[in-house]
Amino acid sequence: MAASPHREMWEKLNLDIEAHDGLLEVLGKFYGDIYLSQEGRLGGMEYLDFVLSEVHGLRIREIQDARAAGKKVIGSFCVFVPEELTLAANAIQVGLCAGADAGKEEAEKLVPRNTCALIKSFIGFKLARICPYTESCDLIIGETTCDGKKKAYEAFGELVPMHVMEVPQQKNACDRTLWKSEILRYKDRLEALTGNTITAENLKKGIRIINDRRRALQRLNALRAAVPAPISGRDVLLINQVSFYDDPIRFTESIGKLCDQLEERIQKKEGIVPESTPRLMLSGCPMAVPNWKLPYIVEGSGAVVVGEESCIGTRNTRDLVDESGQTVEEMIDAICDRYMKIDCACFTPNTERLENIADMAKELKADGVIHYALMFCQPYAHEAFKVEKALREADIPMLSIETDYSMEDAEQLKTRVEAFVEMVS
Ligand code: SF4
Ligand code: SF4
Repeated sequence: MAASPHREMWEKLNLDIEAHDGLLEVLGKFYGDIYLSQEGRLGGMEYLDFVLSEVHGLRIREIQDARAAGKKVIGSFCVFVPEELTLAANAIQVGLCAGADAGKEEAEKLVPRNTCALIKSFIGFKLARICPYTESCDLIIGETTCDGKKKAYEAFGELVPMHVMEVPQQKNACDRTLWKSEILRYKDRLEALTGNTITAENLKKGIRIINDRRRALQRLNALRAAVPAPISGRDVLLINQVSFYDDPIRFTESIGKLCDQLEERIQKKEGIVPESTPRLMLSGCPMAVPNWKLPYIVEGSGAVVVGEESCIGTRNTRDLVDESGQTVEEMIDAICDRYMKIDCACFTPNTERLENIADMAKELKADGVIHYALMFCQPYAHEAFKVEKALREADIPMLSIETDYSMEDAEQLKTRVEAFVEMVS
């Protein structure tokens, strides 16, 4: 790692080189154990292996080159930030991962200990200076989806340039009005930052690019209904994670090719696991890179993950923006409507999510659902009760798990998951 050709770039970004080397080493080892050790992976996965091996290298270099040519980089933590607008302003949007424990002690000086791991992680990554994406951002967009984030952004905003979007908590007409005004406020901020005007032409193009990416992921998710499962849940989680930081057009093309290979595999009735393998679905909080703990445990316990009802999963890809709008106003309305369909647990009530989970479990022929909440995440921990009730009524077993990014509970989780897998088998 020390001899990396990217070292000079990292130094320019003011990364803590030693701590960053340590992070890459752990990431590389994790990746080897969890991903490269899988048998029977498709050739299309090499694209992901490459992207991940160069996640802090070539992709960052591309981003730096784009910045040198005058493009701006926007960081986000939530699927509510409309990337269609970011692209229309000729800027790049990256998801800031926050899926590992780093700089936790330092972060706990700014936010309470009883804060979810995701929040502590994005603050910790910044304080420890180990994330080249965070350091490349010209603007970071926060959102008021939960109290933890809302308050954390006040502290985070002193460390980075921030813009916070107010996401409504209900779905009445007045909430839509608020959300539309927030989209327009984001548009103004983007235009001021980039010096570019968002026109009907470039917004149409932005909508098309992001919809195409969603369509590719929808196709991938639909293929997972096949028995035997053609691809592991770990690999699809990685695909979803990569979608947040790779170039969207390149990503869509690569996933299209992977889906072609999957179709061939399905026709031959080949799977990544035997036909009799219990099929489970994950539901709940997002799993940012490199939070691969639970899928790894599940797939190491004799099951296969066939779906992710998560923001790093179908919550981010299920709905498209209507493409018929011709004026900026019409397209903003279409974007507003699409984003109001997101069934994040921050909404009250949030009954659509219950219906979506049960429908998805049936479509994917899942034998059970594992509900995943990060510790101290109020919205998803609350909804776990409702999800369990809804699934019980649909006769689908559910296991509720609350955990964080540490490996301390790995053995205990494995015991619980194994018992659940045995029960649904
Ligand atoms: S769970 Fe809610 S707050 Fe978190 S990324 Fe998803 S939509 Fe955003
Ligand atoms: S995991 Fe839960 S508590 Fe943490 S940021 Fe997301 S919604 Fe908020």
